[in-house]
Amino acid sequence: MTQINVDKLIADYPLVQDLIDLKPIAWFNPNVTTTQAGLPYVGLTIEDVQDAEARLNRFAPYLMKAFPETQATQGIIESEVVTIPQMQAALAARYQTPITGKILLKKDSHLPISGSIKARGGIYEVLTHAEKLALAAGILSTDDNYEILFSEQFRQFFSQYRIAVGSTGNLGMSIGIMSAKLGFSVSVHMSADARQWKKDKLRSHGVNVVEYEQDYSIAVEQGRKEAEKDPNCFFIDDENSTTLFLGYAVAGLRLKKQFADQGVTVDNDHPLFVYLPCGVGGGPGGVAFGLKLAFGDAVHCLFAEPTHSPCMLLGVHTGLHDGVSVQEIGIDNITAADGLAVGRASGFVGRAMERLIDGYYTIEDSEMYNLLGLLNQTESIKLEPSALAGMTGCVHVTQNTDYLQSKALTPTKLANATHLVWATGGGMVPADEMQKYLSQANLN
Ligand SMILES: *Cc1c(COP(=O)(O)O)cnc(C)c1O
Repeated sequence: MTQINVDKLIADYPLVQDLIDLKPIAWFNPNVTTTQAGLPYVGLTIEDVQDAEARLNRFAPYLMKAFPETQATQGIIESEVVTIPQMQAALAARYQTPITGKILLKKDSHLPISGSIKARGGIYEVLTHAEKLALAAGILSTDDNYEILFSEQFRQFFSQYRIAVGSTGNLGMSIGIMSAKLGFSVSVHMSADARQWKKDKLRSHGVNVVEYEQDYSIAVEQGRKEAEKDPNCFFIDDENSTTLFLGYAVAGLRLKKQFADQGVTVDNDHPLFVYLPCGVGGGPGGVAFGLKLAFGDAVHCLFAEPTHSPCMLLGVHTGLHDGVSVQEIGIDNITAADGLAVGRASGFVGRAMERLIDGYYTIEDSEMYNLLGLLNQTESIKLEPSALAGMTGCVHVTQNTDYLQSKALTPTKLANATHLVWATGGGMVPADEMQKYLSQANLN
């Protein structure tokens, strides 16, 4: 790996100095293209996403059996979209910015099985692997009712195989719980910032939790090493997996149906802005890909990162992608935002999606806590800190007149806009942990 010359990087990209100074900033990428021009660079197509959706439909009867909490949605792991009018008014007051249009909240925080956005990609990748093994062994056909997977015979079969993953917490929860339920022997390599309750929960499901003193990158590296030693061990690669990415992307097509059912219009005159908390990039990248397929140029995606872990902003802005980490420019990558404590972004996602993401911004941990308290106070919705990162996106969009002009987003269009805050986690946080989060909010 080549050494990063920080002085030169700052000279070429003055914004890097703001990142180093830990300032909350927004950067709107001047190089975004139309959806049509940008999509070919992703290397995946709508057929791939439809294939993923069909696979999830095949597994729905199994999931209903294995996780009764999915019965309400017929075995489909999907979340609600809700309005948050009181929070919208509170945001406008807090940032002294009139926010026209409507703010909605996508509650992936309350997805069944693992209570975070990782219940999309993580679970999808485990199911894909399980299906592949069972099909190859000739014990399953895609025409079968997958309910049969919920049996001792299949658990025995899967128990010959191992799955490993590196995680800051939520990915490990999704992959660990799903793998263990199917019968796999599964190891989750957890970074130092992972919460104790997540480790405890995984162990209670029979997952082998391996703990590290270092951050996410080391945990991933160790997981990969473990898997290399064992041909029966499958390593789930959060940084490069197109399977994970496709599992997330299914959200776009589903949201389109959800909006149609709820009477939410999205078109050229009714723009949709979506604010996605970003860690390594697979979750927000995959969801954004699905959204672009579903809504085209009418959807505008922004990624949100903690000021202490702005890896995607850094990678895309400098064009270095995974060739630079926040630590190399002197940022510590320490944040309370689970899932977002990532120092080096996925090179695959950055390169695939940079033409399709309108902007990136950072937010301080203290502000995530404040917004966590504010959302609880105004709407009685409880999220984990990372899930609040999307909440300031509408303020950045509204305040950036250059960006609005460049996209011909007139006041009339903004009055018709939908601002969708993707709430990525928090539904399974134990009450005493939530109390600690809430006590960190300072709303004066
Ligand atoms: C993982 C995670 C994200 C971001 O997903 P990446 O794929 O890492 O970018 C956002 N929020 C929460 C709560 C997460 O767990």
